[in-house]
Amino acid sequence: MSRTAVFFHAHPDDEALLTAGTMAMLAAEGHRVVLVVATAGERGLADLPHGDELGQARMKELHRSAETLGCARVVLLGYGDSGLAIDGGVAEDRPDNAFIDADTEEAAQRLAAILKEETADLLTIYDPAGGYGHPDHVQVYRVGSRAAEIAGTPIVLEATVNRDPLLKGVRLAARFYPKIDVRSFESAYSPNHVITHRVNVRKYARAKRASMAAHASQTTGGDGDRTLGAMLKIPFWAYRLIFGTEWYVRRDLPPGTRVRHPFH
Ligand SMILES: [Zn+2]
Repeated sequence: MSRTAVFFHAHPDDEALLTAGTMAMLAAEGHRVVLVVATAGERGLADLPHGDELGQARMKELHRSAETLGCARVVLLGYGDSGLAIDGGVAEDRPDNAFIDADTEEAAQRLAAILKEETADLLTIYDPAGGYGHPDHVQVYRVGSRAAEIAGTPIVLEATVNRDPLLKGVRLAARFYPKIDVRSFESAYSPNHVITHRVNVRKYARAKRASMAAHASQTTGGDGDRTLGAMLKIPFWAYRLIFGTEWYVRRDLPPGTRVRHPFH
């Protein structure tokens, strides 16, 4: 039976990093995959200056990524990218319509309208801490969980990263790159014991890599030390292993539950 999954993300490229393999898998299984982004990411790090031009370029990249993954529909809610202050907090010079300043109820109603129109069986959001703490990602949790409540969407999954292997990797990497701030990862994403879904997406590693590559403005821009660009330099055999699992937390399942497919 074909079902519908809505993947809710803050910015173009978040889908590539967190849920691309799952999206490609569900589409290949014949399900309807819908991608919703809150903002166009017009304040991301890039060679282009912040603003409409960067937002338009990033939306083009998002559509290319969505095509690669087999998405049936892409929706932009059209909030302003709140940006990220140097200290990791909320940027003071953010736009008037910044997603972080949006009324949660109003934004949730807009997402709920899409969930109802699609009769969505599943919605993905982020964990309550917003992964690594970007204010727009925290807002995705708030707006997304409320929207699912309004629309009565039966399955809500928090897309996350398993912190335990991530920390191991970061500690190892920090030996070679002392600039890496290991402590900032100690409270990022979700610890192993709260994760309910471990989705094996190795079969879809090529699609996931193509989705990351579609976000060209985010691979080379800014300070030249970009995470996405570094990920794309990893040889494919290793890429497949490192990015071959995607993790989710489903809060209404008892902790310790271990599930392999998003619809289970
Ligand atoms: Zn983001």
